[in-house]
Amino acid sequence: MTRKNSDIDRVLIDEATIQQRVCELAHQVSEDYAEEDEVLLVGILKGAFIFLADLARQLQVRHAVDFMALSSYGLSGAASGAVRIIMDLRQPVEGKHVLLVEDIVDTGLTLDYLNKTLESRRPASLRSCVLLDKAARREVDVPIDYLGFEIPDVWVVGYGLDYADQHRTLPYIGVLRREVVSFDHQDR
Ligand code: 5GP
Repeated sequence: MTRKNSDIDRVLIDEATIQQRVCELAHQVSEDYAEEDEVLLVGILKGAFIFLADLARQLQVRHAVDFMALSSYGLSGAASGAVRIIMDLRQPVEGKHVLLVEDIVDTGLTLDYLNKTLESRRPASLRSCVLLDKAARREVDVPIDYLGFEIPDVWVVGYGLDYADQHRTLPYIGVLRREVVSFDHQDR
């Protein structure tokens, strides 16, 4: 049964559709990395934790998991400011096949920062797997190698994504009611 929360205006992507797409993404990633010894999945906290858990459990290639946490400051409205690392990886990535796992790309600043930061650590390869893309809001042109869904410019929650650290465990992607959104509480 779908849990519907009173803060949610509508369901944008339902649970079955998400699960089907995650399965397809895992299949594609497994094919692409079939020749490699191991993939290092780098999940970006907190928003990617559920996506990463589901994706990783469907992979048919050997993989390890690590996490980074970022914070952006200078937030105004829904725009991201400068990005900084608040929790780094526990292992070096040099020589490894790194797959960044992100919940959503909005302006692109976060993914751009991650690409530059991790590229400087000389991985064998670096790609990104992103659940949601708000392409209309892009400020920096960043490549997304594996994408779940393109979505419109609305604030979404569920399946790992939050508003003020709430709604992360909804099994679907929902649009938050406009009256609820005040960007003072944005949290990754
Ligand atoms: P970017 O740096 O691409 O502008 O922002 C990426 C980050 O912004 C995401 O990792 C996420 O934390 C946050 N973000 C952007 N749009 C949304 C949204 O609609 N819902 C939620 N929960 N987070 C968002």
